[in-house]
This record gives sequence, structure tokens and C-alpha cells, in this order.
Amino acid sequence: MANSRFEYVRQFETHDTLLPETYIVIRIDGKKFHEFSKYYDFVKPNDERALKLMNACAKNVVLTYRADMILAFGESDEYSFILKSDTNLFNRRSEKLSTLICSLYTSNYVALWPKFFPGVDLNAKHLPYFDSRCVVYPNLKTIKDYLSWRFVDTHINNLYNTAFWQLIQVCGLTAQESENKLAGTVSSEKQEILFTDCSINYNNEPDMFKKGSLITRKGEILHIDVIKQIDTLFEGF
Ligand code: ATP
Ligand code: ATP
Ligand code: MG
Ligand code: MG
Ligand code: MG
Ligand code: MG
Repeated sequence: MANSRFEYVRQFETHDTLLPETYIVIRIDGKKFHEFSKYYDFVKPNDERALKLMNACAKNVVLTYRADMILAFGESDEYSFILKSDTNLFNRRSEKLSTLICSLYTSNYVALWPKFFPGVDLNAKHLPYFDSRCVVYPNLKTIKDYLSWRFVDTHINNLYNTAFWQLIQVCGLTAQESENKLAGTVSSEKQEILFTDCSINYNNEPDMFKKGSLITRKGEILHIDVIKQIDTLFEGF
């Protein structure tokens, strides 16, 4: 097949090699999971089955490419895979990294679905799919800040979502009323609203919801304060 007169079209392909000696993050995110979660009746705001399924898929990805991974971190419908700065996985080609990790993740999601959602069939018109991107970070400071950013995002979103849904489910507010009540409040005020109006102490919410999930190279799944442990997590990298 090689050397045909058509072969020249290969020259139209662009190169996408990521900068050497930089940390690579591949972040995948569920497409329209707001709808997907509604269609499959996810418990709001946190469906434990769905989070555990996300974690199981990520664990398989980490273990498949363990030699190249530092760790992975996930919340909601997203996961970030953080690769070593000296990795040569897929020759550091951005599109290969992004598409292969993403499709490996997605095929795991479909394959493991029945284990986490027994008795719930995936409908061919409502299949899970994910987007994916590669981002490089030039040094330890920025890659640590990246992970801290996703961790803080988990906290902010979960506190808001917990308060928003509790006001609806426990206090009987409409979605609009709940949104209005929370508008402009800071974290401590949301915690106070949860406590006084819904009798919920946010501190007692499950760690997986509050802190997200971190997967080590060994495949352990942890729900820890990432910011407190940030230096330990990147020790040796
Ligand atoms: P996009 O395609 O742009 O990513 P999206 O609908 O997936 O759109 P996101 O910002 O990614 O929007 O948010 C994901 C949404 O999926 C959340 O807002 C939440 O409604 C839902 N979701 C994801 N995981 C869970 C879960 N474990 N339990 C309940 N709902 C979830
Ligand atoms: P890479 O990961 O680099 O793509 P690869 O093993 O997938 O490696 P390809 O050049 O993509 O290599 O070739 C795909 C191979 O898959 C074929 O050489 C063939 O062996 C096998 N294959 C694909 N489709 C079929 C099919 N329908 N029937 C039998 N074999 C197939
Ligand atoms: Mg998105
Ligand atoms: Mg999404
Ligand atoms: Mg998302
Ligand atoms: Mg192939």
C-alpha cells in the first residue's frame, strides 16, 4: 500500500507533539451529563453509584498506564490524569494521548455500567460519551496548582449543590427559590443555611462528595484534603 501516488496526502497531517519535560494533564468530561444524569435518575446532588463507576474507570486507566502516571483526580463527570514530565507515552502526541485515554475511559464506563447500575440498561439513544483535552504544565508549582484548582472546584460545587438540593428536597423550596436564597452567599453562609434550615452539618457529608477522589499509581482510591497533602503527592516527581 505504501508509495502510491496518493501517499502525498499524509503531508497534510499536522504535528501535535507536546513540549518535552512538561507535566501532561489529560482531562476528560462527560458530554451533557446534566441530561444523562436526569435520564438515568441519578440521585441529586451526588449519586454514589455514578461516582464509584467514574472511579473504577479511572482506576483501570491509571493501572493500564501506571508507569507514566503520577495520579488521577476526579469529581462529578470529570477526571484528570496527571502524567510524569518525562513520559514518552504515545511519543507525547497530544491527539493520541487525548483520544486513547478518553476512549479507554469511555469503553470502561460502558463495560462497568451494569456492575454499578444493576438492572438499569443503557439506552442506545442515551449513551455516555466524554470530551478530552491535553494541557501541559511547565513545573511542579503549576501542576500542584492545577490539582489544587480541581480540588477547590469540587468543594465549591459540592457545597453549592448540597445546599441547593437540600433546600428543595428537605425544605420544599422550588429550584428558583433555592437559587435565589443561595445567590450571593459565601461558603460559611451556605453551611449555616444547611445547618439551620435543613439540619445538616456539612462536615458530616461523605468525604467522596466533599473532597473528590484521588487515585494513586498503585490504584488506591483516596478521598483526602489534596491541598494539605500537595507536597507529599508530588514527592519524587
Ligand atoms: P458539558 O457537556 O458541557 O460537559 P454537562 O451537562 O456535562 O455539560 P457539567 O458542567 O460537566 O455539564 O456538569 C456535569 C453535570 O452532571 C452536573 O452538573 C450534574 O448535574 C451531573 N452529574 C455528574 N455526576 C453526577 C453524580 N455523581 N450525581 C448526580 N449528578 C451528577
Ligand atoms: P496501532 O495501535 O498502532 O493502530 P494496530 O495493531 O491497531 O496498531 P493498525 O495498523 O491500525 O495496527 O492495523 C489494524 C490491524 O487490526 C490490522 O492489521 C488487522 O490485523 C486487525 N484488524 C482490524 N480490523 C480487522 C478485521 N475486520 N478483521 C480482521 N483483522 C482486523
Ligand atoms: Mg464540559
Ligand atoms: Mg460534562
Ligand atoms: Mg463536568
Ligand atoms: Mg490501529
